[in-house]
Amino acid sequence: MGITIWQRRSPPAGAGASNAPPDAGDWGRLEAEVRGCTRCALHAGRTQTVFGVGSHSAQWCFVGEAPGAEEDRRGEPFVGRAGRLLDAMLAALGLERREVFIANVLKCRPPGNRDPQPSEVASCLPFLRAQIAAVRPRIIVALGRFAAQALLTTDQPLGRLRGAIHEYEGIPMVVTYHPAYLLRRPADKAAAWADLKRAREVATHE
Ligand code: URA
Repeated sequence: MGITIWQRRSPPAGAGASNAPPDAGDWGRLEAEVRGCTRCALHAGRTQTVFGVGSHSAQWCFVGEAPGAEEDRRGEPFVGRAGRLLDAMLAALGLERREVFIANVLKCRPPGNRDPQPSEVASCLPFLRAQIAAVRPRIIVALGRFAAQALLTTDQPLGRLRGAIHEYEGIPMVVTYHPAYLLRRPADKAAAWADLKRAREVATHE
């Protein structure tokens, strides 16, 4: 498909670099592919693509749905209200934004923040797959139904996906509520915190 898929290189003998970051050039190439992408109609309405941010050797990878208006303007995922809640969730885990990796399933904003369409997910998902393959985190946290369903190739509802440790390409994955949903339903924050604690247990005992 013309999308760079990386295999992590074997570390040099004795380097102990089992979590060595991918070559900066590889990231640059993938970022350029995303920036120039015209695979689906969303490219026509974007201000810019939203590639993802954070550490390329992060132990935690958080995956959302798609950029909103603020993210489209600033080119960074989760910078609006939902992003501020995500930052608070990270802080509760003792994590900072720069030490985790954050990306969305879609790299372009759907108009009016509508749900991603299956064809858009199919076009864009290889980018996210390449990012996760490069980072090789210890744990993936899927934020909301779209991220979980896209990565697990399932149409099961969120209620069925929460509460279990899933596996994506050999990497443990926990599913929790999307921060935007939690802004509307703060009563579910306690359940989301339980999900995050489960993820932390997996990340620290892997
Ligand atoms: N919602 C998402 O899923 N991703 C963002 O980047 C912002 C809001």
